[in-house]
Amino acid sequence: MYNLVVFGAPGSGKGTQSARLIDEYGLYHISTGELLRDHIARGTELGKIADSYISKGNLIPDQLMIDILDDTLANNPQTANGVIFDGFPRTIQQAEALNEMLGKRGSKVHAVVGLEVPEEELIDRLIKRGADSGRSDDNPETIKSRLDVYHNQTAPLRDFYTREGKYYGVKGSGNIDDIFAEIKDKLRPTRPNE
Ligand code: ADP
Repeated sequence: MYNLVVFGAPGSGKGTQSARLIDEYGLYHISTGELLRDHIARGTELGKIADSYISKGNLIPDQLMIDILDDTLANNPQTANGVIFDGFPRTIQQAEALNEMLGKRGSKVHAVVGLEVPEEELIDRLIKRGADSGRSDDNPETIKSRLDVYHNQTAPLRDFYTREGKYYGVKGSGNIDDIFAEIKDKLRPTRPNE
């Protein structure tokens, strides 16, 4: 079993690198952003609530997000073999809840890979993505609030996981294959039987 958190600012490439890591390690992928966008697309009650936060660039309230995660783990038995958490946790409260959720299942977070990308490049990438993603939150005004939220609420997790001895920072700009290779190198010592 191996649980990996893929961590980084909006536009840092979490989704891209997670997709490769799933193939490489055969883990179950939980992207909270995708999960919420799926609810929005289906017009569910949760989707309506989520949209009111996402379209402004704000985070979904912690307790709601934690309950969704707990449900996802409970309803997908494959998660017991290991998960890539992409976009979760995003606050200290969520990180503490994740430790608890995995702890009560006899497991833990094994490693956190942090994709580190300069601010100007993030803005550039998000504006470009906005042109074809159709995402309601990839517009200049919302991008600014998402980056503010990231700095205020999410970035402190880097210290949180560094203190736990689990943080592996990787330069997230440049060639996608090179970034992936560096992630695998950094994670190798944290992998079971490797
Ligand atoms: P990105 O990191 O590129 O902004 P995501 O798809 O991970 O994209 O997230 C999109 C939005 O979904 C976030 O801005 C936030 O509103 C919401 N969201 C995703 N994950 C969480 C979370 N763990 N806690 C609160 N809100 C979340």
